[in-house]
Amino acid sequence: MYSTGEWVPLRRMVFHPGEPSMWNPVENSYRVPFDGSFKIEHADTRPPQSGPSRKDLKAQLKAEVAAVDTLQEILFAEDRQSLLLVFQAMDAAGKDGTIRAVLRGLNPAGCQVFSFKQPSARELDHDFLWRTAQRMPERGKIGIFNRSYYEEVLVVRVHPKFLGMQRLPPYESLEQIWKHRYESIRDHEQHLARDGTRIIKFFLHVSPDEQGKRLHRRITKPKNHWKFSSSDLAEREYWTEYMDAYEAALNATSRPWAPWYSIPADDKPFMRVQVAQIVHKTLKDMDPRYPDLSDEDRAALVAHRESLRPEGEED
Ligand code: ATP
Ligand code: MG
Repeated sequence: MYSTGEWVPLRRMVFHPGEPSMWNPVENSYRVPFDGSFKIEHADTRPPQSGPSRKDLKAQLKAEVAAVDTLQEILFAEDRQSLLLVFQAMDAAGKDGTIRAVLRGLNPAGCQVFSFKQPSARELDHDFLWRTAQRMPERGKIGIFNRSYYEEVLVVRVHPKFLGMQRLPPYESLEQIWKHRYESIRDHEQHLARDGTRIIKFFLHVSPDEQGKRLHRRITKPKNHWKFSSSDLAEREYWTEYMDAYEAALNATSRPWAPWYSIPADDKPFMRVQVAQIVHKTLKDMDPRYPDLSDEDRAALVAHRESLRPEGEED
């Protein structure tokens, strides 16, 4: 038996065949279309010329972060839906800084950030969705993936030698592997969406020139030395291969239930505002609400209020 408090269908979960209401992707000029027509060579790495000033961007970011904070609190109280933010990018595009800037104001209890690097031996003993599946945000929480299962169709596609460590069953061709992985990812994300997780994915799109400048700065500024890795330089050599892999992955997996946004990353303040705006709008669209109290619970609250009232005080 369910008590009424446990078994109230979400108000907004009115399902229409083929188009559940929770699959309303937030519109934004950087959203990757769902029909496979995304061309990475035409995707901006720089903001529009007549974009907002630095001062306006700063004010906008502050306002967006405050709005996200308010909605997060309600999402947490509602405890029925979760939001997953996936970040993918070339090195030095600014994933960490963006995650920090956008989530700065949030209550850490309602947020879970995970970074995914090269898989461990234990992780390699499982299917490629295993390690991230265990780190999905709990109901009421916002989860952030700094890199994700998409590495399996990005870095692994650029360097198929990584497949050797995965000890897969025999396969016909590499093309078949990527095709199956896109299919698995689409199914996995659709399953999560149906079950209450909104997923939005950000590709922070930096140009090779800007990346070169940032890596150079890491070498010239002693306090940034720790950020420099010579493997970043090695990966730069594979820029075209990475861009091909991103284009294919974004086209194959940008869907209404889990849209990709390709955000220009050459200008960090602009990028952060775009990400914060999309997170804010998505949370707004999820429309979290404080849970309704049952008549019994309300009556119990009144009784508790009476019993806790300090002597001689009125409400
Ligand atoms: P930063 O450089 O900002 O500290 P990062 O995310 O680049 O952060 P690194 O330790 O530099 O972290 O790199 C992690 C590396 O792990 C990346 O090159 C990434 O492509 C690689 N990686 C992640 N997942 C996989 C995977 N499934 N298979 C192989 N390599 C992976
Ligand atoms: Mg790195």
